[in-house]
Amino acid sequence: MKITKRAVKLLAIAITVILAFAMLSSCANVSGSSVADSQTVSPASSNLAEQSSPSPSEMNSYTPYETDQATPDAAVTHENSTAPTLSVLFINVGKADCALITFGNHHYLIDTGSADSLPILIRALNSMNVSSLDGIFITHPHKDHIGGLPGLLSQLDVQKVYMPKITDYEPNGSNKVMDIAEQFDKQLVLLSAGDTLPFSSNDVVFSVVGPVAYNNDEENNNSLVMYLSYGDTHFLFTGDMQFDEEATILSSLFPCDVLKVAHHGNKDATSTIFAQTVLPKIAVISTDKENLDNKATNALEDVDAQILLTSESEMGLLITSDGQTLLLESLNF
Ligand SMILES: [Zn+2]
Repeated sequence: MKITKRAVKLLAIAITVILAFAMLSSCANVSGSSVADSQTVSPASSNLAEQSSPSPSEMNSYTPYETDQATPDAAVTHENSTAPTLSVLFINVGKADCALITFGNHHYLIDTGSADSLPILIRALNSMNVSSLDGIFITHPHKDHIGGLPGLLSQLDVQKVYMPKITDYEPNGSNKVMDIAEQFDKQLVLLSAGDTLPFSSNDVVFSVVGPVAYNNDEENNNSLVMYLSYGDTHFLFTGDMQFDEEATILSSLFPCDVLKVAHHGNKDATSTIFAQTVLPKIAVISTDKENLDNKATNALEDVDAQILLTSESEMGLLITSDGQTLLLESLNF
């Protein structure tokens, strides 16, 4: 384990500060949200926050955390917590999307990167000791999200493939995701807003909030959007949703701790009202290092989100939750 205990502690401090800071801003900006009200910082973590630590503003940059790199088998420990750990690894697949979600022996992927991502994906899954998947969610059938699906289905034991019911279909009623699932004889599950998918334990739940209306103009606006919730912590996955879909699901949204920023951070997504509604403490942009000036970071900075790029980590960004607090690590192969 290359990461130092000091680095882990600093990360815990940093996240705790952000949690505390965001709690204050949530209280100031959001009324009537039971979820925002329920986000708490454990007493032990609060003690950490009283020690010397970076200010939230210092954390809002593209290189905001310790540069110490952890090996994939680094065990993340939430101090003073015996709760099981939920982990979300945002894999560095360049300007594409893939997140690995693990709780106990259960593993899911949200999107599969591009076809070129497959070697990285396989390497990352091997590093995380993942040889089978409970399911793969495809947010929408663009090549930077669906590209790795055939390769993964051919190499791994995958139980189910999930996709939004509201999506583009061919005149014959099929689409790319359906075709691939059928080719590999995988069960396909169509998801609609309002659906919930618990892990084996009801403590961890996916909740689908979008899409709610078919958008004929832009396939990105038919992206599967869902929360992943564990205890008081909430992750929000958005695919490549742009402004139009944001507007249609706004009333279903509530504050999250971690936002997978939509459409690789492009300026055609993440509106001010969206950012003010979901109030992320951590905003992960899955992209390469190109065109950073074209990122819609203003709306995120205005709500004091800590913005992180997947390209900053060789393997990816690992965020873990014990249901109360979050820890962040940068993983190398
Ligand atoms: Zn994309």
